Amino acid sequence: MKFGTMISDITASLFKRPVTEKYPLVRYPVPERLRGHLRWDPEKCTGCGLCAMDCPANAIEMIVIDKKAKRFVMRYHVDRCTFCAQCVFSCRQGCLEMSNDTWELAALNKEPFNVFFGEKDDIECILAGSTAQDT
Ligand code: SF4
Ligand code: SF4
Repeated sequence: MKFGTMISDITASLFKRPVTEKYPLVRYPVPERLRGHLRWDPEKCTGCGLCAMDCPANAIEMIVIDKKAKRFVMRYHVDRCTFCAQCVFSCRQGCLEMSNDTWELAALNKEPFNVFFGEKDDIECILAGSTAQDT
């Protein structure tokens, strides 16, 4: 870059507002189709496991406790998810969607990346049976 051009750029920048966004103080609306954290609707789920089978990142485990009673627990490994939405397309019951309002997923520990969807009692039952290494 020529010295003259550099000086003119510096001078111009003194009178311009910074382009940097003041995130997180200022948050702009996200696109409607943004793929954020997975959501699961247990009401429609049949426990077929297609979502888990088709997930290329192995980010979903569908744990069937009692198929007749529709007692399922879905384990979602957020840290493995690539947000490709394949599971959403694969689910024929329309139980899955990617939320566009939960996308700030950074965390200081692993806990928020290990999500269990389902009834509280069923989740506790699953956790009681898993090893410390699993969780
Ligand atoms: S969005 Fe893609 S990577 Fe994430 S759980 Fe669904 S299929 Fe797996
Ligand atoms: S594909 Fe849909 S219906 Fe089948 S287990 Fe997954 S969420 Fe449930």
